[in-house]
Amino acid sequence: MAKPYIDLHLHTLFSDGVSTPEQVAEEAQKMGLAAIALTDHDTIEGCPRLAKACAERGIEFVPGTELSTDIEGHEMHLLGYFLDTMNEELIRETTRYQQNRTNRVHDLIRQLNSIGVALRADQVFSLAKCRAPGRPHVARALVRHGFCGTMDEAFARYLRKGTPGWTPKVNVPFEEGIRLIHQAEGLAVMAHPGLNKIDHLIPDMVRAGLDGIECWHSRHPKSTAKRYREMAARLGLLSTGGSDCHGPGRGQPIIGTVCVPYDILDEMKRRLPRSTVSVQV
Ligand SMILES: [Zn+2]
Ligand SMILES: [Zn+2]
Repeated sequence: MAKPYIDLHLHTLFSDGVSTPEQVAEEAQKMGLAAIALTDHDTIEGCPRLAKACAERGIEFVPGTELSTDIEGHEMHLLGYFLDTMNEELIRETTRYQQNRTNRVHDLIRQLNSIGVALRADQVFSLAKCRAPGRPHVARALVRHGFCGTMDEAFARYLRKGTPGWTPKVNVPFEEGIRLIHQAEGLAVMAHPGLNKIDHLIPDMVRAGLDGIECWHSRHPKSTAKRYREMAARLGLLSTGGSDCHGPGRGQPIIGTVCVPYDILDEMKRRLPRSTVSVQV
C-alpha cells in the first residue's frame, strides 16, 4: 500500500518538543508514514536537519512552522507549510518572535521570584537549549528543581492564565502572520480550531487569506474533525491534520496516530504557487 498516511504537525527540541529531528524521522518511519511536516513554534531552524533525515529514510518532508498570532485578543496558532526556509524576511521575523519568547521567559521568572519561587533563568535556558523557549520549558525546570511534582502541576499552580506566575505574551497580529507565510511562498492554516473556540472569527481569517483548517488533531474527537472538514469544504479551504506530537511522554500525542490520508498533501500542492510546487514534488 503506497503513500498511506501523513502527519503535518510535529515538534522537536528546536521548540518545546523533546526529540531531535533524527529521532522524529526514525519514529515516522516506524509508523510507516509517507510524509511529515515540522511545525516548531516560531522557528524553522529544525527543518534542514529533518529534511535530510527524512530523505535518508525515503519520507517526504514539508518545511513548516507554527506561529503564535493574535486575533482580536485571542491567541491563535497559525501553521505555515511549504515554506522557503531561506526566505530572508521569514528568518528575520521568526528571530524577532524568538526574542519575544526569551523576554517572556525572563518576565515569567521575575514574576515567580516575586511570589517566592526561587527559579533562576539559567535553570530554564540550560534545559531549553533552543531559541524558541516557552512555558513548557519553565514548567520542566520547575519540576527538575523540585518546585513542582509534575508539568501539569506547574501549569496549574504557576503558568496558566489567572495563576500568580502568569505573564502575558506578545503575539504578532494574525494578518501579519498570514502575510509572512505567504511572502515565503507557503500556505497558512489555522491550527487545532477545536481548542480555540473562535469559530466565529474564521470568516475574517478567510478574508485575510487563510488557506486551510487543521481538521484532524489529537485533541479533536472524530465528530470535531468531521465538522471542520465540512466547514473547510464550504469555505473553499484546505483540510489538513497532524498529531501535534512533542516526543515521547506520558499522555502525550503520538506521531502518526491521527490518520491523515496522503491525498491531503496533493490538494495542498495544487494550491501552491507553481514555482514552489516544482521544487517540492
Ligand atoms: Zn498549537
Ligand atoms: Zn503544535
